[in-house]
Amino acid sequence: MKSVGEILESRVEGRRIDFDEATQLFEEADLLELGSAADRIRERLHPDNVISYIIDRNINYTNVCKEFCSFCAFYRVKGDSEAYVLPNELIYKKIEETLALGGTGILMQGGVHPDLKIDYYEQLLAGIKQRFKIHCHCFSPPEILNIARVSKLTVAETFGRLHAAGLDSMPGGGGEILDDEIRNDISPLKCKTDEWLMVHREAHRLGLRTTATMMTGVGEALHHRIRHLQRLRDLQDETGGFTAFIPWTFQPDNTPLGERNLPEVTAVEYLRVLALSRLFLDNVANVQVSWLTMGLKIGQVGLRFGVNDMGSIMIEENVISAAGAKNRANDVELRRVIQDAGFIPRQRTTLYERYVN
Ligand code: SF4
Repeated sequence: MKSVGEILESRVEGRRIDFDEATQLFEEADLLELGSAADRIRERLHPDNVISYIIDRNINYTNVCKEFCSFCAFYRVKGDSEAYVLPNELIYKKIEETLALGGTGILMQGGVHPDLKIDYYEQLLAGIKQRFKIHCHCFSPPEILNIARVSKLTVAETFGRLHAAGLDSMPGGGGEILDDEIRNDISPLKCKTDEWLMVHREAHRLGLRTTATMMTGVGEALHHRIRHLQRLRDLQDETGGFTAFIPWTFQPDNTPLGERNLPEVTAVEYLRVLALSRLFLDNVANVQVSWLTMGLKIGQVGLRFGVNDMGSIMIEENVISAAGAKNRANDVELRRVIQDAGFIPRQRTTLYERYVN
């Protein structure tokens, strides 16, 4: 059996690590040793000393949902007095504000609405594209599966029509922990691991890029996290369609899962997850830190744990903030945090390309 130091050295030299080695690293490696190896890999992949970020806006077009995930404080059932579907005009107004702030994209996600068919989504996307030059990064796998079911279409047909209407890429929401043992516990009605992966595979096959995510702190064990990373790496080997990996932490306020009083993911544990992700996902170009859930200070430290992207300034965010995350920043603050950590901040597009004004 190799020592932790040998595994890290060979990984930095370019060798792939396997499941058992990842377990050993997470359990035994010293925090700074792990971070330093991840930082060296980040440096090799992104040698210009740049940390990127994006100006975009999360628009939650509806909070109506039929999945009842135990970790969610955002959704409302149909007919609830707080349930909504945003009027298109309001969505347009939010996009106008985003563009005025120098934004380049919208991340539009909602609940899994039981009734909205594909024509609603087509009209929404087409209406946006007629009015604005903006990247539409929209609808996570559970929503895509639902649109397909409600509209009696295949997933490929659904993507084909949404893409024609203006969909540019898909966010990887709804991934949480890609292991059905955990999914059956925390979100039994939501898509299973293979379905989540299948939706991404279809998107990639049609040329749409997507992001991969992970939410820790929901009662998963280390082997669930590593299986999650393994499944992402396998799919990326197959398709190459993921632009980035974004791990964040469960926010417990106002959620049934929060009542279980699960141990919170500490800063150190989150940094270990970031570093291990950078080490394990050798075929994903970008790792993004979730300052929204961890705060700007941990976000800044994360830049030395394999991270090359600071994410979004989050002009608007409703889902995670409903569960307790209240962190906020504008682009001046985000740039300062990046600079103070010794990097060059650079605005990017949704597809992780350099933004040229
Ligand atoms: S996490 Fe998403 S799918 Fe689950 S209940 Fe909340 S809005 Fe619905």
